[in-house]
Amino acid sequence: MQTHNLGYPRIGSNRELKKASEQYWAGNMTAAQLEQAAKKIRESNWMLQKDAGIDLLPVNDFSFYDQVLDTCLMTGAIPDRYHPLIEKEQMNTLDLLFAMARGYQKNGYDLTAMEMTKWFDTNYHYIVPEFKKDQRFIFFSNKIIDQFNEAKNAGFQTRPVLLGPVTFLLLGKEKEAGFDRLDLLNNLLPVYFEVLEKLDQQGAYYIQVDEPCLALGLGEKALQAIKTTYTAFFKRFPNLRIMLTNYFDCFGANLETVLSLPVHILHLDLVRCPLQLDDILATPAFTNGRTHLSLGVVDGRNIWKNDFEQSLSLIQKATAKIGPGRIWIAPSCSLLHVPCDLDLETGEKTLPQEIKQWLAFAKQKLAEVAALKQIAANPEEALSKTLLEDNARCMKARRTSARIHHQQVKDRVAAITAADARRNSPFFARREKQQQELALPLFPTTTIGSFPQTKEVRSWRAQWKKQQLSDSSYNQLLQEATANAIRRQEAIGLDVLVHGEFERNDMVEYFGEQLAGFAFTQNGWVQSYGSRCVKPPVIYGDIYRPNPMTVAWSVYAQSLTSKHVKGMLTGPVTILQWSFVRNDQPRSLTCNQLALAIRDEVTDLEKAGIRIIQIDEPAIREGLPLRKEQQEAYLNWAVTAFRIAASGVQDQTQIHTHMCYSAFNDSIHAIAAMDADVITIETARSQMKLLDAFAMFEYPNDIGPGVYDIHSPRVPSEDEMLALLEKALEAIPAERLWVNPDCGLKTRAWEETMPALTAMIRAAKTLRKRIMDPVPE
Ligand code: GLN
Ligand code: ZN
Repeated sequence: MQTHNLGYPRIGSNRELKKASEQYWAGNMTAAQLEQAAKKIRESNWMLQKDAGIDLLPVNDFSFYDQVLDTCLMTGAIPDRYHPLIEKEQMNTLDLLFAMARGYQKNGYDLTAMEMTKWFDTNYHYIVPEFKKDQRFIFFSNKIIDQFNEAKNAGFQTRPVLLGPVTFLLLGKEKEAGFDRLDLLNNLLPVYFEVLEKLDQQGAYYIQVDEPCLALGLGEKALQAIKTTYTAFFKRFPNLRIMLTNYFDCFGANLETVLSLPVHILHLDLVRCPLQLDDILATPAFTNGRTHLSLGVVDGRNIWKNDFEQSLSLIQKATAKIGPGRIWIAPSCSLLHVPCDLDLETGEKTLPQEIKQWLAFAKQKLAEVAALKQIAANPEEALSKTLLEDNARCMKARRTSARIHHQQVKDRVAAITAADARRNSPFFARREKQQQELALPLFPTTTIGSFPQTKEVRSWRAQWKKQQLSDSSYNQLLQEATANAIRRQEAIGLDVLVHGEFERNDMVEYFGEQLAGFAFTQNGWVQSYGSRCVKPPVIYGDIYRPNPMTVAWSVYAQSLTSKHVKGMLTGPVTILQWSFVRNDQPRSLTCNQLALAIRDEVTDLEKAGIRIIQIDEPAIREGLPLRKEQQEAYLNWAVTAFRIAASGVQDQTQIHTHMCYSAFNDSIHAIAAMDADVITIETARSQMKLLDAFAMFEYPNDIGPGVYDIHSPRVPSEDEMLALLEKALEAIPAERLWVNPDCGLKTRAWEETMPALTAMIRAAKTLRKRIMDPVPE
């Protein structure tokens, strides 16, 4: 029996890589210093994995940005626009990688960055490969070989990790018409052969090839590509041992093909999909064969301590069938998706000791893998018994903790009825009442919620957290910022105002901190993309809202103006999606608890006189399961949770929702089913293309398609926005069109925000005029 690991977080336990990369980008660090910092992280990661008792260590899991981008460089899939950087500027690979990831505006160049999108159903983002019809591939970057040798020289025998060729092609995009990217496989494979040959020469033995596309429903052609690839690897490299790795879901209908492949080891994610083990063990061709199984029993996607009893039952089941010699034990996927080290959490206030005992971060998960091997291989040893007993005690303590269980919350969720998820009247009836109540003009103008979080605002919060600023002074400053935002919005003539969200650090953390059932980490960072990291809260227990969370801010802002101020909340699905969620009950149940807490806030806002309330759900689309069969069930409970949150109010109260960075085609019916009175979405960057889905579906309620991209400091002109609005009018009837930016403005400066919003309001006014007094024929 062997223990191994598929990948370790590359950011460093104290985010050393983030800090070093940003210093390098700012010009405060040399490339050599950055390389040095990276080398230190890699070495300490290998050391730490070895010390934890891991037999086979990964190499090439490290990246300065992203493993898919690394694969583009390895295979020379470098889009044409960057070629002058190589040919004319003789740019090195490191800078080229950053230019591709972040764009390049120097020395007379203005090169856009490559697109970025979410890695399967995680919050990690990868760089999307760009392919053209006559795409050539060459072995370009030597990183994998260099790092293998680096490890060897440091005394570590490692297993190189490669992104598999089929997943690499499938994750990319065809940048021109007339070809299928899978047809590029024949051009691509020779580069992989070259890499494997070099690794073979350097003394590699095991090779990990990640093909997480196998967790998706694949067509015949993709499956054929898988067959071609792994048969060729086997034939050409009889000395190498290939481990084919899949994670995040079952092999599903791909299983038959996978089991027929001549690979040495098959890795299974048994956390997401424990049942597939039975299918595999019931296949005589497999059990009678020689292929090893890597059992991914330790959750690489969540932060809970492993339940040894449960994992051991899987390990024993497999051992009984094929013997311990063919079994490997591992985390379910790369540990990239969990924070580094629980030992660094020392704050009793953020993360009480009791809860800490229930958790395991990357480093602790490796110890769990090693402990599982110890227990499985030597069940009679005293050490094994102690490990097992300790674990069982932790599991029991968590299950029975008074912190977790609140009977009232459970009863309330159990008592939810269909009526709780329904507004009193259908949209058309609500709409009439809201029009009377709100008296808004045609094409009402609004924003998505946040206004610039300037350095100043952030410094107040930092000082307040360090107790250098009293509660009342902090509050006073926030009130001034809010009043200032209201004055600015009135001055330019927005129709529906917002308070500006100055009191919020983050749209999930802010609510989590005020809800029961949440804990926080001080250092629980997870890479989101490049140097960007997020620190998700931990939902550990039953959720309820002890006190109103936002009412005072909305009421204060409303007291300053006669215009309507929109209340601003984060929706239940988004809070769920951006947290580490408890694994002892279904996600849908936790989501309903959140829905009731937000519902309480919504009704309190209404009671306090707030007429318009926005419930943001930017993450609703990304919660979609990978497999089609499971998607409807998810959309069903997610939409219901939103509706529970939104439906406690009178018809007159207008409910908004907001979404961004979503494709809507596959979920438009669910978005319509949310039945928000108004939805604002991000459409400027796609030039209103995203609206097509709404038009095709004949989306019935009001829509505010974003008319300007908030990601860039660029101030759009009135004409530009007018043109976008006219485009929007082709898809949406005038009386249902709202005018707003793509998303919140917290990352922008006031100097850009004011002129941009002024121009936006002018565009709305021009359009109103055109519609009200059309030019006579
Ligand atoms: N109300 C939030 C804001 O304006 C919405 C953010 C989001 O959609 N990601 O910042
Ligand atoms: Zn948004």
